[in-house]
Amino acid sequence: MSDRLRVTLLAGGVGGAKLAEGFAALKTVSLTVIGNVADDDVFHGLWVSPDIDTMLYTLGGRINREQGWGVADEGRRALTVLQELGADTWMFLGDRDLGLHIYRTERLQKGDRPSLIVRDIAERFGIAAQILLPTDDRVQTRVRTGDGWLAFQEYFVRERCTPRVLELRYQGIGSAKPSPEAIAAIAAADLVVIAPSNPLVSIAPILGIDGITEAICATRAPVLAVSPLIAGQAIRGPASAMMDTLGLQPDVKGVAGIYAGIAGSLMIDHQDARHADAIRTLGLAPVCSDILMPDRAGKVRLASAILDLLPSQAEPGNP
Ligand code: GDP
Ligand code: CA
Repeated sequence: MSDRLRVTLLAGGVGGAKLAEGFAALKTVSLTVIGNVADDDVFHGLWVSPDIDTMLYTLGGRINREQGWGVADEGRRALTVLQELGADTWMFLGDRDLGLHIYRTERLQKGDRPSLIVRDIAERFGIAAQILLPTDDRVQTRVRTGDGWLAFQEYFVRERCTPRVLELRYQGIGSAKPSPEAIAAIAAADLVVIAPSNPLVSIAPILGIDGITEAICATRAPVLAVSPLIAGQAIRGPASAMMDTLGLQPDVKGVAGIYAGIAGSLMIDHQDARHADAIRTLGLAPVCSDILMPDRAGKVRLASAILDLLPSQAEPGNP
């Protein structure tokens, strides 16, 4: 048995992977990530799982550091051929990345459980953390814009998040069963952290799976969320614009409203300190810190700051 602190992190792609990297660097932590599958889709006959793969590439040390997603030292020769053949190539899939999608798709076709496929990839990539799926069933985010419903990647990549988001739907979520591993990881956690991921398209499709929110509410471990917004702005991506067009306050108060009843505390940036009382009124304990993670040091600093909030463990042997 390990005496390390069991941290279970709910996370999407880039923002989630940043904090995951911070926790993974701490020797005192045993990290389990519950990732997001609702960005998944089929491209060129292959099952692509962008958020899970960002986590795999980040924790496996293969990530393209400049972009925060995709594989380092990537090529586009396969995509060029697809383009020559007239295929739609707005979704960038590099040569090395395609190798992973071929592997996943082949195993899915053999009937292997998605969770086990990810477990095996993580092991082969030399990742010490556990990367879990919230469900082995299909859940896919759909986005309603002025032009109708889009698949998530059509909105996110093809349309570059420019259309106003009028409605979100997580197709399949009503009948999705939680993975037993995810439920167990929440129950066994010493600390549950909701990463600074997009609350509406990365975290909501995890929390909305039957049994996941219930497991979080049932745990005696502290549950802390980290805001993805600083001073009303997302660091990157459409979180604040989406919250705005969906009628939520596009700032830390809106984030607090989403996580009220699920998290006990919300970590916000010092810049948002004036909203602390409003967050308290919504039922969350506000914690101010420096929540920007511009580099590896910033990631480790934030993960450490979160651990510092825990009541210190009684020294072994002390009465
Ligand atoms: P995606 O699935 O790749 O879009 O990534 P996530 O959903 O995991 O994360 C997207 C969110 O991460 C955005 O709303 C960003 O504001 C947030 N984010 C990115 N970098 C940082 C950071 O350094 N600090 C904080 N607090 N949030 C961040
Ligand atoms: Ca995502």
